Amino acid sequence: MINLVIFGGPGSGKGTQSDLIIEEYGLFHISTGDVLRDHINRGTELGKIADSFISVGKLIPDELVVNLLGKTLDENHDKIGKGVIFDGFPRTLEQAKALQPLLAERNMQLNAVVGLEVSDDELTERLINRGKESGRSDDNKETIKKRLDVYHNQTSPLREYYVNAGLYEPINGSGAISDIFGEIKNAIEKKTAVAV
Ligand code: AMP
Repeated sequence: MINLVIFGGPGSGKGTQSDLIIEEYGLFHISTGDVLRDHINRGTELGKIADSFISVGKLIPDELVVNLLGKTLDENHDKIGKGVIFDGFPRTLEQAKALQPLLAERNMQLNAVVGLEVSDDELTERLINRGKESGRSDDNKETIKKRLDVYHNQTSPLREYYVNAGLYEPINGSGAISDIFGEIKNAIEKKTAVAV
């Protein structure tokens, strides 16, 4: 079983690279952003709360997201035999600290945190371009700036947390999608290699 976090700023390519990783390793994809947007589309109570945060570029409170993640893991228990890729989670230190017991309770553990490193200028340009097609309420100039601020203030400290845990693998997230994926594969193999 391989359990990974794909980490990086908004627009760093987490979704795109997750798709390639899933194809290669047969992992189950959990994107908290996708799960939350699904709640918004279905008009659930959680969706209404989530919408009020997402549309202004703020993070959903930790407790809600952590509970949602536990529920998502349990509901998909039969699909996660080969492991999970966590995309967009954790985003705060509290979430990172909650992830470890969430996994341990399910006899799982984190193998690696793959960090896609892209400059703010490039992230902004990519998100503005994505906004032309995505229809996402948060892919507009004002909210993009807010999301980058949130990323730097609340999420990027996790890099050091996972470096200290010996799990962080930095990847240059600029360039061709296939080259970036090649680097990611090397990082995954390094972290999951069985010692002989
Ligand atoms: P994403 O699709 O990962 O870019 O997430 C879109 C938005 O969903 C974020 O800007 C947050 O408002 C919310 N969100 C997604 N994942 C989380 C999380 N782990 N913690 C808090 N908020 C989240």
